[in-house]
Amino acid sequence: MTDYDVIIIGGGPGGYLAAERLGHAGKKVLLVEKEFLGGTCLNVGCIPTKSLLNSAKLYEHARHSEQFGITATGVEFDWAKVQAWKADVVRKLVAGVGAAEKRAGVEVAKGHGTLVAAGVVEVNGERRTADHVIIATGSVPVMPPIPGAQDNPLVVDSTGLLAVESVPKRLVVIGGGVIGLEFASLFAAFGAQVEVIEMLPEIVPFMDDDLAGRLRKALSGVQFQLGCKVTGIEGGSVLYTSANGAEQRAEADLVLMAVGRRPLVDGWGAKEAGLEVGPRGVVVDDTMRTNLPNVWAVGDVTGRSLLAHAAYRMGEIAAAHILDTASAKAKAQLLRTDTIPWAVYSMPEAAGVGLTEAQARDRGHDVLATTVPLAVSGRFVAENGVRGPGAVKIIADAGTRAILGIHMLGNYAPETIWGAAVVLETELTIDDLRQVVFPHPTVSEGIREAAWALKD
Ligand SMILES: Cc1cc2nc3c(=O)[nH]c(=O)nc-3n(C[C@H](O)[C@H](O)[C@H](O)COP(=O)(O)OP(=O)(O)OC[C@H]3O[C@@H](n4cnc5c(N)ncnc54)[C@H](O)[C@@H]3O)c2cc1C
Repeated sequence: MTDYDVIIIGGGPGGYLAAERLGHAGKKVLLVEKEFLGGTCLNVGCIPTKSLLNSAKLYEHARHSEQFGITATGVEFDWAKVQAWKADVVRKLVAGVGAAEKRAGVEVAKGHGTLVAAGVVEVNGERRTADHVIIATGSVPVMPPIPGAQDNPLVVDSTGLLAVESVPKRLVVIGGGVIGLEFASLFAAFGAQVEVIEMLPEIVPFMDDDLAGRLRKALSGVQFQLGCKVTGIEGGSVLYTSANGAEQRAEADLVLMAVGRRPLVDGWGAKEAGLEVGPRGVVVDDTMRTNLPNVWAVGDVTGRSLLAHAAYRMGEIAAAHILDTASAKAKAQLLRTDTIPWAVYSMPEAAGVGLTEAQARDRGHDVLATTVPLAVSGRFVAENGVRGPGAVKIIADAGTRAILGIHMLGNYAPETIWGAAVVLETELTIDDLRQVVFPHPTVSEGIREAAWALKD
């Protein structure tokens, strides 16, 4: 007889959602969290960034409302209040997770969990047993071995930057991925001089190049150095080699290191317990099973996708297989990374799902692709004007006419992209999509226009 049906290590989106699903299904669940319920996402990730970005967007709107016939004078921001708003949002949502676990009958233990063996977890030095164990330890920021970066008080990661007591005058962001861009956009709106240094030739590598370029140009107040390699940091001076080989220097009051995150695979017994860990993280199949019997892994720690909604889905999949090993319905619960949408909440916003045009060609598709400006959407024009930054790119296979990817630049894109995810998840063709009626006037109509703009 084991102590629990399921022990979950890690109380972020992957862990807490799996716990809720299992608890509501009547399982005896122990959720072990060492720091804060809600994990990275609620405490130092998705939610605090979006709370700060909301304040930044309001500030931008207020300052640029003249063209809409609204005159706002004396518009100012109070950083301490902006931070207080963020803290309040986080506090409420974290409390909500605690309440949700309680409703599901999940026991939450504050402490460090260590996997001893399949079915055995040590919590704060005490051994507990379970029929199943789910690993959901998440990820941590990567701090590359750039000379001068370690122990430099002017170099911070995303968690450090979220907590700053004032807006830095000059911010250098190393890394032009989603996290780097959201912070760049946020601090530029609050008046910082922002420079992003990116090693690759374009920002946001999983975004179609065409739209990524448009996003870069639309991010007002942010300067970009592309194809540049940072070679060292001296105090607040960031040294880099530019694309043409010249040695350059960018001066900053604060440097954000945003070169990515790595799965947290150490410090909780993975190696000692014999868990298979690959270069991307804990190795799992599409049902989230690891190599150890009844040990599952979900979320960032698997490296399959480093997004909160992907972690939710992985938690749900593991829970479904734990609850029901036999039925066809349960067996159909599989992770499909190709249809997980992504979003950037910068100003303007962007989102997408599926392949880029380049990826589709690399995979051997005979590609049909087109980009339409969001000026085709009445609502977009009403809110941004005809020259506002916005476009939809659609990528399809010319032979089967299956939609392979939909990428959007423009506000509301993150709210709209789930529809595109349904298109890909249900494998709709261009002709199926053309038959779907979209509400008017909405920005989402750009997707329908793009489907009609593709060649027959
Ligand atoms: C600045 C920033 C912005 C982001 N914005 C977005 C966004 O807008 N949208 C999005 O989808 N994603 C976003 N992400 C990514 C998102 O936060 C992660 O994908 C998500 O949190 C992963 O969930 P998880 O459950 O796998 O891990 P985590 O949320 O990292 O949770 C893991 C938890 O496990 C705990 N833990 C680790 N080891 C142990 C142990 N041994 N014992 C007990 N507890 C342990 C940790 O304390 C942590 O609470 C952002 C990330 C950052 C950093």
